[in-house]
Amino acid sequence: MLFNVYRPWLRLFLLTANLFAPVSVLLSDFESPWINAAAAIAHASLIYAIVAPGCAWLGPVVTRFHPRGREVWLTIDDGPAGAETEYLAKELQSRGVRATFFVKGNRLEAQRAQADQLHAAGHTLANHTQTHPASMFWWLFPSTLREELDACDAALLGAGVAVRRWFRAPVGLKHVFLHRELAARDMRLIGWNVRGRDGIASDPEAVVKRVLRQVRPGAIVVLHEGKKRSVEGILRVIEELQSLGYAFVIPSDEQLI
Ligand SMILES: [Zn+2]
Repeated sequence: MLFNVYRPWLRLFLLTANLFAPVSVLLSDFESPWINAAAAIAHASLIYAIVAPGCAWLGPVVTRFHPRGREVWLTIDDGPAGAETEYLAKELQSRGVRATFFVKGNRLEAQRAQADQLHAAGHTLANHTQTHPASMFWWLFPSTLREELDACDAALLGAGVAVRRWFRAPVGLKHVFLHRELAARDMRLIGWNVRGRDGIASDPEAVVKRVLRQVRPGAIVVLHEGKKRSVEGILRVIEELQSLGYAFVIPSDEQLI
């Protein structure tokens, strides 16, 4: 959990080191191995902080919650996904499962009926950017980052979502200004500590195995909609976790760690 401990001085150090590193290398004419090595370490550390979803060096990341029993938080990213979401909503209801859907704003605007269905069934909808600029997220212009956050927020507001404090970054990437923008909106970055990697390898049994290896009470599980065999994988995970006595809950802000 060392990487998920937020230290403001570490953030300052990382950003400052990365500002001075190229200048120092240039001034030393690339000749000092020590300066070159220090610059490389500074860059590598910043890249790690950006790329590692649970790393809190640039700002706090929620990766688990205080459970009130054998509970997990199921989070489903990238929807709504049309008929798939409608089917999934019915299946979740029949299994007594509540989940949080981190939605893409542009999909939400086009699929209000599906959003209404999720909302009415007691699921929460939260911000996953407007257009999901996955690989580009970390180097968006600050104004584009703000637009991604605000447009999705407007879509959620339009869908009747009253409380909009949670944000999940596309593929868990950070942006050096992300936490500043989230703080200005009273929002928190929600990560995970259990992932099925269902976006990469969608075989439901492989997804279940990965989840079972990592799960424990208070876990945040991330799965996806709109991928090959997504719903099948989600339902298999639910089946297995329920057979182990897990309940699916949506934690309050106070429970988040
Ligand atoms: Zn996503």
